[in-house]
Amino acid sequence: MTTTALPVPNLTVETLRVSALHAYAYCPRLFYLEEVEELYTQDAAVFAGRRLHVELEKQEDEDWEELFLESTELGLRGKVDALRTRDGQTIPYEHKRGRCHRDEQNQPQAWESDRIQILAYACLLEMVLGITVPEGRIRYHADNVLVHVPLDEAGRQWVKAVIAEARTLRQSTYRPPVTENERLCARCSLAPVCLPEEARLAHDREWQPVRLFPADDERQVVHILEPGSRVGRTGEQLKVVRKDLPVETMPFHQVGQVVLHSFSQLSTQALHVCCDRNIGIHYISGGGRYMGSVDRRAGSIQRRIRQYQALTQPEFTLQLAQQLVACRGQGQRKFLMRGQRHLKAETASLKQTITQMKAVLKQVSQAGSRETLLGLEGNLAALYFGALPQLIAAEVPEALRFSGRNRRPPCDRFNALLSFGYAMLLKDVMNAILVVGLEPALGFYHQPRSQAPPLALDLMEIFRVPLVDMVVIASINRRQWQPQEDFTVRGKQVWLSDAGRKKLIDLYERRKAESWKHPVLNYSLSYRRLLELEVRLLEKEWCNEGGLFAHMVVR
Ligand code: SF4
Repeated sequence: MTTTALPVPNLTVETLRVSALHAYAYCPRLFYLEEVEELYTQDAAVFAGRRLHVELEKQEDEDWEELFLESTELGLRGKVDALRTRDGQTIPYEHKRGRCHRDEQNQPQAWESDRIQILAYACLLEMVLGITVPEGRIRYHADNVLVHVPLDEAGRQWVKAVIAEARTLRQSTYRPPVTENERLCARCSLAPVCLPEEARLAHDREWQPVRLFPADDERQVVHILEPGSRVGRTGEQLKVVRKDLPVETMPFHQVGQVVLHSFSQLSTQALHVCCDRNIGIHYISGGGRYMGSVDRRAGSIQRRIRQYQALTQPEFTLQLAQQLVACRGQGQRKFLMRGQRHLKAETASLKQTITQMKAVLKQVSQAGSRETLLGLEGNLAALYFGALPQLIAAEVPEALRFSGRNRRPPCDRFNALLSFGYAMLLKDVMNAILVVGLEPALGFYHQPRSQAPPLALDLMEIFRVPLVDMVVIASINRRQWQPQEDFTVRGKQVWLSDAGRKKLIDLYERRKAESWKHPVLNYSLSYRRLLELEVRLLEKEWCNEGGLFAHMVVR
């Protein structure tokens, strides 16, 4: 295959990619997500398409020629798959891995989005080369059929009209609604970020959503706990050099996050690959405090503009905050109820706390200000943490018992566990926010006071009980902690030792891998995916697809 680059594209006029026109014809929302919001996923279908082109390149058929074309007059640019000369005419070819469309007589036809794509290439050829192109051809490899798509005057006008519509949409700050043709979504590479089924549920509570969001993310979170470790790159592998330990390597595609605890070094080469492949990089201090994350500013400014517009409306933020406080409070109360069921002897005070929490929760939706809400949240937290010690089994040694929440620094082993667990959670919520592309500094409930980003503090409220509190209480009751080996006590301050941190990280990561059925969406997915899903559902609150955020309550 030879590649010909035609000269002199006029860079002062921004042209549309032909593939973007294909996306527009497939679904205007897909076009918007890719072109305006700059969201791309590399799903199996996209990779399959790429492999097909690589295979074709290897054929080295002299008729095949990849050609980059651009016309500012037409407002288009693109790389045509191949050209052939037939009967003295130049014909563009497009290759599709999938099947063709069939008409009522079962005759092979091109899909509409494929038709506009090949006609756009034909128009580009006419415009750039000054020739007449009678048709384009599409080979559907799954059916092994070649479909001819004639180019006539109506076709030329159609291409121009679609270009004009797409350009108009590109200027808009309005994300188009999901397509009415659900079958398109099942094959759409952006379904996991578009969440069309959830959008349909938001408008129709009878809708039974199909899960198009991946149920799990099997990529690993690599924790570097040993101070002085070096993380680098060797080819396509992440390389970890720890003092006195064998060198460890891992393919980048198996890594979801790199978490550097204490003082370790990450090479620029590894940083570049991590940024390029959306691998999160996070820093935790030696004392177990979340320090920050690498923010590569994924996604376009349009999404942040919408977030700013929504989260600067006091009524709207109060409503979100009410949902959040109710969600966390209900989760806390349900956890106490679970504990009550599992206690051999029901305690009257626990029962009373559960009743009191119910009464406070009733007031949450009536709170007229953030200050009132803070007061109610404080009441709920006091009741919850006051009752939590009762969930500790009688056989647990005194050293692992506690009498309430304390932090900065933690004063007992239980609070040391909770604090480190919350730091891990904050890191994961930040990771999800950065993956989705929202602005972490702009929340709706917490104020920008500490170094922790308010939106992350907001969102982690939903996950404190299921991902940290339950894990800590269960592991204490299972006698998994050694009061001496797993903790370091200095005066009144208690920290996790290296062994303790490793143990809690292991328990926490295992919990994240567990599956949970969402009560509203009615499908199951792992907690590590739920973190990202919840951020996406929050964004839907200001995209006219709300009502699904903060429904994660333990049963
Ligand atoms: S998932 Fe469906 S609605 Fe969303 S962009 Fe794709 S085709 Fe359009």
